Amino acid sequence: MTSKSSLTCEMLLTSASTRIDSDSSRLDAELLLSHVTGLSRTRFRAWPEHEVTDVQAAAFEALVQDREAGRPVAHLLGRQEFWSLPLKVSACTLIPRPDTECLVEAALDLPLPKQACVLDLGTGTGAIALALASERPDWRITACDAVAEAVALARDNSNSLGLTVTVVQSSWFADLETGRFDLIVSNPPYIPENDHHLKEGDVRFEPASALVSGRDGLKDLQLIVDQAPGWLVEGGWLLVEHGFDQAQAVTELFRSRGFAGVETRQDYGKQDRMTLGQWYSDAPVNAPVSNRGGVDAQ
Ligand code: GLN
Repeated sequence: MTSKSSLTCEMLLTSASTRIDSDSSRLDAELLLSHVTGLSRTRFRAWPEHEVTDVQAAAFEALVQDREAGRPVAHLLGRQEFWSLPLKVSACTLIPRPDTECLVEAALDLPLPKQACVLDLGTGTGAIALALASERPDWRITACDAVAEAVALARDNSNSLGLTVTVVQSSWFADLETGRFDLIVSNPPYIPENDHHLKEGDVRFEPASALVSGRDGLKDLQLIVDQAPGWLVEGGWLLVEHGFDQAQAVTELFRSRGFAGVETRQDYGKQDRMTLGQWYSDAPVNAPVSNRGGVDAQ
């Protein structure tokens, strides 16, 4: 039997919020306390004077210390929600970001066939592929990742959620079986290797393989844009996430490769975050660009 600690939820949350150095310190503390007590976050508001047990207080203290040391909440909980799907996460992949949901929305808006063949390159946890599978059960979705642990994690998530995605190990297109897709989607690494963000916040605990892409952050995006036409049907779409300041460079990659109707769209924070285009094998190089999005972004 464990005894009450005489510490209330509100006492623990108030003290942890001041110790955790994050923009979302109160939310972080609530998620950690919810994890150890099994109580929902709304419960803490409705019942702030609820006393936790000694064991719960000790478990919470250990998590708060890890969070103080900078470890991401998603790693401490072993999961992260994306598109309302509870995904398992691990240190071998990127933690899915809310802004990547905008990429999912953009993909769902495309005029694709009912049984579209879709490829998610560098799937990590499987976030994008699984979100698409949850919305479009008729799509045939393949997801790949170069990292064996990520492949296992994405398969695990796919099985736990009961969503059908074929997950294969491949470094971009290198080890895929030949085929043509109606849509290729990707959130590749795109941070320049010397970017100061890499030394701040959660990204310090995520693998460089999921974040960093050469000196200008464009190495993987360039490879994907170069090779995608060999894997797209006529009129097939390529949709990629990129950095807030990379829209012009990525648009240029799409245009010079011959993609048509190239467009940049924004994320929840109104930052340029993704670019898409359509592939026709007879398209003239440097097709005209419509950049509907980029007006008010930084
Ligand atoms: N947008 C992420 C960040 O800034 C990086 C994601 C990525 O490299 N694909 O932390």
